[in-house]
Amino acid sequence: MGGTFDPIHHGHLVAASEVADRFGLDEVVFVPTGDPWQKGALRVSPAEDRYLMTVIATASNPRFHVSRADIDRRGPTYTVDTLRDLRAQYGPKTQLFFITGADALEKILSWKDTATMFELAHFIGVTRPGFELSDAHLPADTVSLVQVPAMAISSTDCRARVGAGKPVWYLVPDGVVQYIAKRGLYQGVISASSSPS
Ligand code: ATP
Ligand code: MG
Repeated sequence: MGGTFDPIHHGHLVAASEVADRFGLDEVVFVPTGDPWQKGALRVSPAEDRYLMTVIATASNPRFHVSRADIDRRGPTYTVDTLRDLRAQYGPKTQLFFITGADALEKILSWKDTATMFELAHFIGVTRPGFELSDAHLPADTVSLVQVPAMAISSTDCRARVGAGKPVWYLVPDGVVQYIAKRGLYQGVISASSSPS
């Protein structure tokens, strides 16, 4: 599951857990993005902070892991590179699934090398409140759509809440609440819009 994870929240964790159960996955690997080219104009927290929050959030689940593949690779993050790196790391016999929310799935066709991506992994699009999960133009043999328990949480909203001095308890794991406070993240964030992006 790729993402900016700025910060990771319970929407990500529920989606990962639900997909792991439905598809009988051995592991879910969370891959925080390096330089997020699609959010180029927006300020994103340092990769190391996003990586550590993801580690904290997933530490208690023996099936959840975090990969540094995207943050250690130079240049902007492309999903096709992420999948190539994971394929190289796990070997040709491992079946890869890429878990993505309805909003991100929409953008898949705008990503580069879609054909190669579909060869490298099976894509799983999960429902997300506020976004339509449409199967239009998506090849059924390489993309599955899955209903997960609705969690109307976004990182954008979490950042805006912290910036406004509002609580994020129970939206993100306890350790992540404490990490955000310890590092003073999102202090300057002004809520231009609290809708997810
Ligand atoms: P931001 O608001 O900064 O874009 P976000 O909440 O969308 O953050 P991302 O890191 O952008 O989080 O998302 C990583 C992946 O998780 C994407 O595929 C996204 O669609 C999915 N996702 C995020 N939040 C949810 C949610 N509440 N339910 C289901 N999927 C989600
Ligand atoms: Mg997003």
